[in-house]
Amino acid sequence: MTGIPPQPLREAHKLTMMLDTVLGPNRFEQGPVDVERLAIEYSAKTEPATPIHEVIDRDLLGCVGALVYSDTLPRQWGIVCSTGQSPGRRNFTIAHEFGHYILHRGMIESGGEYDGGIYCNERNVHQGVGPDIERQADQFAANLLMPFHDCRKLVPARMRPDFEVLGALAKRYGVSLTAVILRWLEYTETRALMVVSNEGFAHWAKASEAAYKSGAYISTRNTAFELPSAATAVTGDHSDEAKAGIPRPRGCWFNEPVVEMCIRSDRYDQEITLIHLENNDPKHHESEAFEDVYDRFDR
Ligand SMILES: [Zn+2]
Repeated sequence: MTGIPPQPLREAHKLTMMLDTVLGPNRFEQGPVDVERLAIEYSAKTEPATPIHEVIDRDLLGCVGALVYSDTLPRQWGIVCSTGQSPGRRNFTIAHEFGHYILHRGMIESGGEYDGGIYCNERNVHQGVGPDIERQADQFAANLLMPFHDCRKLVPARMRPDFEVLGALAKRYGVSLTAVILRWLEYTETRALMVVSNEGFAHWAKASEAAYKSGAYISTRNTAFELPSAATAVTGDHSDEAKAGIPRPRGCWFNEPVVEMCIRSDRYDQEITLIHLENNDPKHHESEAFEDVYDRFDR
């Protein structure tokens, strides 16, 4: 590929502006971005010789989505979604693959590493983890499906949303609850974390910038993190109260009290825990909080 690679944010912004113009600024009142239709129509208009023809659902062993092409030239493209994804995850997967088409098809054209197409696993698509191109495709997808200007209107940067608010947002954007929480964590000015766990262990977690800077985060890079024994995700006491928020004392999650909200997804056999921390100036707590996190790792 030659020249400056297209930027995920710039490309998503272009589409967002176009959709705002065509469908109006309140377009999300009518429903989420119809990403399947958008990918097909937009590529047909901008790249008529080499468009995306269809989105198909297939069994994809070990992958949730793929961007594939025909053997004939000029290349004709297709997006494959693995079967069995919830509608919200499927939308995000399509947007992610559409992102690869917009941003990375030149890399495929030039052969080499991506000869045969781009195949993406769950961590690539739903956690934004992996090589640069995976994170870029995720940025594109999140910005396209959940534009910040709309998110901020509903959940301002200083608000502490609960699952009801976040669930409504997920519905508005046609994405999963975890996708919407990841998006909110990107811009919130509050200190908060999401922890995704199963059988008492966190398999991945994400902190807001303010939480991260104050040392309130959980690393799962090298090993799964054992949750506090009092956590709802461990006790399995999924009451309305646990969903709405239970105060946990200092020493439970961190070296300070927190409010913990937890729900369980039977479909994916996992718990999503949202942790809200007080908005103290993180800098005043930096060293203390860091110590606490590392103490926990040592245990
Ligand atoms: Zn990917």
